[in-house]
Amino acid sequence: TKPRVVLLGLGAMGSALARTWLAAGHPVTVWNRTASRAEPLRALGADVAVTAAEAVASGELVVTCLFDDASVGEALAGTDLDGRDLVELTTGTPDQADARAEWARQRGARFLSGGIMAIPPMVGVPEAGGYVFYSGTREVLTEHEATLAVPLGTRWAGARPGAAALYDIALLSAMNGLFAGVTHAFALVRDEEMPLKEFSGLLVSWLNAMASTAGSMAEQIESGDYTRDVVANLPMLVSGNRTLEAAAREQGVDYRLLSPYSELLEERLAQGFDEEGGTGALELLVKRP
Ligand code: NDP
Repeated sequence: TKPRVVLLGLGAMGSALARTWLAAGHPVTVWNRTASRAEPLRALGADVAVTAAEAVASGELVVTCLFDDASVGEALAGTDLDGRDLVELTTGTPDQADARAEWARQRGARFLSGGIMAIPPMVGVPEAGGYVFYSGTREVLTEHEATLAVPLGTRWAGARPGAAALYDIALLSAMNGLFAGVTHAFALVRDEEMPLKEFSGLLVSWLNAMASTAGSMAEQIESGDYTRDVVANLPMLVSGNRTLEAAAREQGVDYRLLSPYSELLEERLAQGFDEEGGTGALELLVKRP
């Protein structure tokens, strides 16, 4: 028989997780603050707990997928976590995960933090490529790998409990930059002749081609030499960005989504790093000692 999964939180994501474990033949105990959300899962064979404490008492592997870190604290407040493996999939900050790990340790639980890189329709669909970053107590992942890999792929992020959240947030942050650029691009061409659907195809292939430069950026950062393998130097990039800004003005489009990045490159150039490409500007962002 397969191991039982205790799942707290039946929002869009928690419900999708529960369905895939049930479909794979795992016994599943579910609990949700608003009890009605558990009914569809009861119909699929889940055991529905009335309280979080009752749910936690029913199995060793406890998975939380709640709104935010505060709701995790509230939901687990009256539960006995001693001897449990707590797998926390709620999105939070790295520091929150570190604190939650210590909180779990004090209650006798082993702790694994997860950052979900998927949306609910990708859960239980391996071809969709969704996965979860895991960090914290490695043995929890190793021992429960077969169970945890049912809904989404697994990827180890490191022993620091907050590492999974950090990588999750790094990817989401890059995505926001992407969305900012795409929003600006559509604003520029919206009223032109080419259908936007056709333009979007060009956008996707261009972004895919450009995204691969992250690999050489990684090499530059690791080598500490930002002048290595530069294909577009900083004076050219800064001049190009001024052209982008002038063109936006001509088109009557606000440049505000892109101006922070342009300003960063201007500042790096003003410091005299003419031989670099764009990667060295990272040094202006990192504030920690
Ligand atoms: P939903 O808003 O659909 O569900 C939130 C869940 O949290 C509900 O079960 C809700 O219970 C519960 N909850 C909120 N506050 C409390 C509280 N104080 N005490 C107990 N339970 C509480 O969110 P999702 O399922 O979409 O997301 C859950 C987590 O997964 C989030 O951290 C999100 O960032 C993450 N995630 C979601 C993705 C997505 O695409 N949906 C993608 C990647 C990560 P109730 O029903 O009673 O309101």
